[in-house]
Amino acid sequence: MNKSPGVIQLLPQDVIERIKAGEVVQKPSAAVKELVENALDAGSTEIIVQVSMDCLREISVQDNGCGISDLTLAVQRHTTSKLQKVDDLFALQSFGFRGEALASIVQATGRVHIVSRTIDRPVAFQQSFSPASKQASKATPCARKPGTTVTLHDLFATMKQRQKMTNDYPSIIQLLQSYAVLYAPRGISFVCQKLKKAQPDLNTGSIVKQNQQLSDISTETHGLLSVSQQEVTKKVLAQIHGSQLLESLAYCESKLLGKESHRKSNNNNTTDRLNDVNLSLLSDMAGIPMHVSNVEDVARVVEVDGEIFSCQFWCLFTKPTSKHLQQRTSLNLILFINNRLVECAPLKKRLEELYSNGKHLIFLAIEVPPQQVDVNIHPTKKLVALLFQEEVIDHVSARLSTAMKNLDRGFTSSQVL
Ligand code: ADP
Ligand code: MG
Repeated sequence: MNKSPGVIQLLPQDVIERIKAGEVVQKPSAAVKELVENALDAGSTEIIVQVSMDCLREISVQDNGCGISDLTLAVQRHTTSKLQKVDDLFALQSFGFRGEALASIVQATGRVHIVSRTIDRPVAFQQSFSPASKQASKATPCARKPGTTVTLHDLFATMKQRQKMTNDYPSIIQLLQSYAVLYAPRGISFVCQKLKKAQPDLNTGSIVKQNQQLSDISTETHGLLSVSQQEVTKKVLAQIHGSQLLESLAYCESKLLGKESHRKSNNNNTTDRLNDVNLSLLSDMAGIPMHVSNVEDVARVVEVDGEIFSCQFWCLFTKPTSKHLQQRTSLNLILFINNRLVECAPLKKRLEELYSNGKHLIFLAIEVPPQQVDVNIHPTKKLVALLFQEEVIDHVSARLSTAMKNLDRGFTSSQVL
């Protein structure tokens, strides 16, 4: 091996672009995730994804969101409408913030075609972009309802080795199913279809519409999800996993709000502190039957640099007693933290311990204050760093464990905390 130091030099821009693109668009499902998250950020209520059989030749994501005002600018690297200053990173309400997904997708694709109409314009504009020509086509007007359609033609045309990867459709459908469950109670529907196939593999349109009509007449909203929202969520899960799942599903939720008063009034007394949280749990969940059997169930009040641990979650889980065929436990954990679909191995391990055997499902949506989560630690954002990771894991598993015990004791209500 040559031991003399090499010359350090800046990479040419096109190489930098290609490396970045490879990190962001690792698989077809990663491209779909970025496009769908853009559609959600744009306030869409209907998102339609269509893919060719091989998930490479064509992928399109159509939405009815706010539209893009400048297509050429949108596909440049580090151009975003979602972030202005560094502090915004710690109060993010959007999925996007780096302004590099569309730029990376263009770099990784033979041709990207975008059609978009903003609400204030009478016509849409369409434009094509490709990495080879370096030149975008001219934007031309066309007809379209407000919203955006992004179509990728020949994904990985510039990265031949990635074309050989096995079919990514299972990951695409799983991704969209997860979003469909989370967003159904908020009135957002998803369709996923293979091109040339008559029937979509996922279509939550009618369930979502039905729920909207119902919630027009119903006013109950005492928990994180109202009863009708729980119902619509269960229906979507049943559409995905089969109707036999419905009878084995239970719902639970918890709100633990770290408040200024906890810190000030309870500096030294641990018991008081726990009671204080206990009380706040009870009052935050007013109207919902709750059984807090002992204070150990309740998470500790923890403070780091003036931040007080807060966490709320809702969860649909299969009851431990539900019929199962397997001897060993296998847990399908679908986890959202602040609306982001993420993985968290230590949390999954703890939740697996709640079941003794069988095939189980937990759909878990956790919310923590935006300043307690760093979303910028992974190129595809599938991991996040939590300021209070241990506390979140303790809290969620303790509450879920109580919920399961209460179910065992025969509580009939679906809300068992
Ligand atoms: P980011 O989402 O991080 O801002 P992207 O490259 O994904 O970066 O998108 C760049 C910009 O293009 C976004 O900030 C947004 O203004 C616009 N955009 C992209 N997709 C859509 C869409 N479907 N609807 C409306 N605006 C979009
Ligand atoms: Mg984006």
